[in-house]
Amino acid sequence: MGTNRNAGSPGKGPAHGISRRSLLIGGGAAVVGGGALAAQEIRRLWWRVPGVGRPREPGELDYAGARWIAASEANWRRADRPDDYAVDRVIIHVTQGSYASAVRVFQDPSHRAASHYIVGKDGRVTQMIRELDVAYHAGNRSFNERSVGIEHEGFVDRPQDFTREMYESSARLTASICARHGIPVDREHVIGHVEVPGTDHTDPGPHWDWKRYMRLVRAASTDPSAGSAS
Ligand SMILES: [Zn+2]
Repeated sequence: MGTNRNAGSPGKGPAHGISRRSLLIGGGAAVVGGGALAAQEIRRLWWRVPGVGRPREPGELDYAGARWIAASEANWRRADRPDDYAVDRVIIHVTQGSYASAVRVFQDPSHRAASHYIVGKDGRVTQMIRELDVAYHAGNRSFNERSVGIEHEGFVDRPQDFTREMYESSARLTASICARHGIPVDREHVIGHVEVPGTDHTDPGPHWDWKRYMRLVRAASTDPSAGSAS
């Protein structure tokens, strides 16, 4: 989210998000380059391990450390990622409000925006949209389709909102997303909303400590228990 009144509008951005499915149906697999196809096939096969992700169950989580509260269906689009869209970005947001207000607006169909996860100042993680689905959080169609969005409780101009518990908990979540989707843990692939092409949003803002955050994500990537408070 952030500071803009067009927060995360789903239709914004260039309409170059032609799905791989339509490519395959339209022109056969040869349309997709050999190397890219191989990488996609690997992801697809991994995801199809029985018991992973599909079929869906109400309340099912992608991240064991989260609890589930469903977002309004107006704030996301049903998809079948990574089969229809490869996921290669994690996008970091700051809510410009409280945890409770973020949950509330994501449940509100008139809001027209929501992220997959919300992380509170106390480190709690709530999942509101499945990673299979496209959440309207980036304000850019293709970046919505390729990313998982994480909101953080607080305000961009209040560095005290970004607590140790929040950084550590969010880093474990991002490490899990990167591991499950094969996303490199670097600043090209873990980005702020401000870095989405065409955005006029500023979150997570200048006080978000990227160096600290990426160090925690890397630590959690190599050791699932690292980065914890204990
Ligand atoms: Zn944002």
